[in-house]
Amino acid sequence: MRVLITGAAGFLGSHLCDRFIADGHQVIGMDNFVTGNPDNIAHLIGRPEFSFIQYNVTDYIYVEGPLDGVLHFASPASPVDYLELPIQTLKVGSLGTHKTLGLAKAKGARYLLASTSEVYGDPAVHPQPESYWGNVNPIGPRGVYDEAKRFAEAMTMAYHRYHGLDTRIVRIFNTYGPRMRPDDGRVVSNFIVQALRGEPISLYGDGSQTRSFCYVDDEIEGIYRLFFSDITEPVNIGNPDEFTIRQLAEMVIELTGSNSPLQLHPLPEDDPRVRRPDISRAREYLGWEPRIPLEEGLRRTIPYFREQVRVRGASARIL
Ligand code: NAD
Ligand code: UDP
Repeated sequence: MRVLITGAAGFLGSHLCDRFIADGHQVIGMDNFVTGNPDNIAHLIGRPEFSFIQYNVTDYIYVEGPLDGVLHFASPASPVDYLELPIQTLKVGSLGTHKTLGLAKAKGARYLLASTSEVYGDPAVHPQPESYWGNVNPIGPRGVYDEAKRFAEAMTMAYHRYHGLDTRIVRIFNTYGPRMRPDDGRVVSNFIVQALRGEPISLYGDGSQTRSFCYVDDEIEGIYRLFFSDITEPVNIGNPDEFTIRQLAEMVIELTGSNSPLQLHPLPEDDPRVRRPDISRAREYLGWEPRIPLEEGLRRTIPYFREQVRVRGASARIL
C-alpha cells in the first residue's frame, strides 16, 4: 500500500509511519512542524519507503501518484498547544479534514480520521461508549479542539454516506510514550520532566480528576488494526485502567526516584472530571486490547525524557 500520513512529524504520526514501513508499505509524511519535530522522523529520511512533504494541510493538497490510504493525524493535540493555537486548531480540524477527505476521494483511497475522547467533553456517562454523544462546551477554551474534531467526524461520515468513501474514525484516549514533546504541557510529560529536574509537580485542581493512559505501542496497534478492518463506525482506542492525576504524580515520583513535592494549581476551565474508554467495540471487532500497564509504560518512557532533559535541557510547560 501507498499511504499519506498527515501530522507525520508529531508524536503519534511518526510512530504510525514506523508501523506502516515495518510492514512493507510506502509512506508519504506531511507536516508543517507547528507542534511537531523533525527529529521524530529523522531516522526515516533517506529510506526508499518514505518521503516527506512540508506542507500546511489546510490548503489544497496535491500528491503525485496513486494513494491507497490517507490517515489524517495533523492537529495540535495538547491543551496547552491548542489554547495557544486556537484558529490553527479549528482550521486543521475543519479545512484540513475537508482537504484530506477530498484527496482520498480523488485517489479512491481509504480514509482514517484521528478523532479524540474530547468529543465526549466532560462526560456525563462513565466509562464512555462510542454511542455516547458527549457533553461539550462549544464556546469554552477547549471548544476549539473539541468542536473541530466533532465537525471532522461529521464531515468524514458525510463523505462516507454521500460519496461512498471508505472511512474509519478512531477516538484516541490519552496516549503517552517516547517522542512526546517534553514541553507540550500534557500531564505525563510535565510530571516526568518536573520529577527529573527536581522541580515541584504541578497538580491542577486537587488531583482527583481521572484519566486512562495508553502506551503508544498499544495505541498504534489498535489504530493499525482499525485501518485494516471494515468498521466505519467510530472506535475508542485507549487503555481502560483509570487513575487519578494524583496517583499518576505519585507513581512518577516513585519511578524516577525524585524528591519533588506536589504543588497545587487552579483547575483549568472545562477540564473533564473523569475519562475512561469503554473498549468493548475494539475488543469485539478488532480483537484488540492494551497490553502494557501504566507502570510498565512509564518505565519505558522515562529514559526518553531523561535524555531530553540531560541533552537538551528540556523543561515542563505549566498552563
Ligand atoms: P502532535 O502535536 O505531536 O502531532 C500533530 C502533528 O500535526 C504535528 O507534527 C504538527 O506539526 C502537525 N500539524 C498540525 N497542524 C498542521 C497543519 N495545518 N498542517 C500540517 N501539519 C500540521 O500530536 P499527537 O499527540 O501526535 O496527535 C496526533 C493526532 O492524534 C491529532 O489529530 C490529535 O488530535 C489526535 N489525538 C492524540 C491524542 C494523544 O493522547 N496523543 C489523544 C487524542 C487524539
Ligand atoms: N494536569 C495536571 N498538571 C499538569 C498538566 C495537566 O494536573 O501539569 C491535569 C489536567 O488538569 C487534566 C489531566 O492532568 O485533568 C490531563 O491533562 P492533559 O493536559 O494531559 O490532557 P487532557 O486529558 O486534559 O486533554
